[in-house]
Amino acid sequence: MQVLGCVKSLIQQLLLSLFFGLLMISPPTDLLSSSFTFKSALAKTKKQSSKAKKSKSKRPKKKSKKANKKKSKKRSKKTKKRRAKRQYYRVFKGESWSGIAKRLKVKVKSLKRWNRRYKKYRRPPAGKRLAFYGPLRNTESVGRPNRGSLKHGVHLDPDGDGLGKGYAVSMHRPDLWGTPELVKLIKDCGSSYRRYFSRKYAPIPIGDLSSRKGGRLKSHKSHQSGRDVDVGFMRKNPLSKGYFKNTTARQMNMYAQWVVLKCFLDSPKTQMVFIERKLVKALKKYIKRIYKKRKKKLNKYLSFFPGGKHKAIYPDQVHKSHMHVRIHCPKGDRLCSH
Ligand SMILES: [Zn+2]
Repeated sequence: MQVLGCVKSLIQQLLLSLFFGLLMISPPTDLLSSSFTFKSALAKTKKQSSKAKKSKSKRPKKKSKKANKKKSKKRSKKTKKRRAKRQYYRVFKGESWSGIAKRLKVKVKSLKRWNRRYKKYRRPPAGKRLAFYGPLRNTESVGRPNRGSLKHGVHLDPDGDGLGKGYAVSMHRPDLWGTPELVKLIKDCGSSYRRYFSRKYAPIPIGDLSSRKGGRLKSHKSHQSGRDVDVGFMRKNPLSKGYFKNTTARQMNMYAQWVVLKCFLDSPKTQMVFIERKLVKALKKYIKRIYKKRKKKLNKYLSFFPGGKHKAIYPDQVHKSHMHVRIHCPKGDRLCSH
């Protein structure tokens, strides 16, 4: 029996060596040993494959964790950047470094570092803009336009030369504070006006918005909560930049005036536009003429006039030199009322 077993194992080894020789593969050493069985070999290969799988699956997991960490870091940096957006603060007469820093919730040291050119001054120069990185200040229109106030309003950049931005503000108008929505609307309409009229043409004259903190404003009943702006009429013979003057329908540049009014009417933010009665009539007539062949547009814009579905234009006897535009309460301003 022993002899037979030996012969069997010999034959087995020979066959295996031949097989692997043909395949040009060196056989695993344990296969050549007498204790070889196919089951054990299978089990071993399974173990090895599972180990390899584990090692493979482990490595990318580690990597992905690291990548996730990196991503989250990047994200947090981004959010930090978003929070620390550059903002500007216009300095008023008599304000001190510490007072402004306290107001903006930043350190005096950092405020001076962000505005190096004013660092040497004992007080920051009035009228200049200070850059700062701090918590975003939430603007809020409080109360009604004729009895309200404005919290952390946004200042409309007056654009000194009055060429690029499509609008201009006359000198000596300090009350240019409004909600971000109103300021953006004015800027948007200025640039849309420039798309129709090149830089040669006079810019849209912009008048008062609200004072820095809102409240009563000289010679205005409303303009108290940052939602009102006076927009001068576009004249055939424009005045110097940013100035108003009583205008009749004949003196009005109807095309330019319609471009400006249309921009405000097209915006869903606009709530009311006050214009003198006769001028409203003249504008209505003009629209009927230019949209004669485009009934859809005609109906759309006529609906903003008195008697229309979306009435936004309010005729009166006061607004002879400018139109008074009021926007809706901005979303989220809980203390704002119409
Ligand atoms: Zn007004």
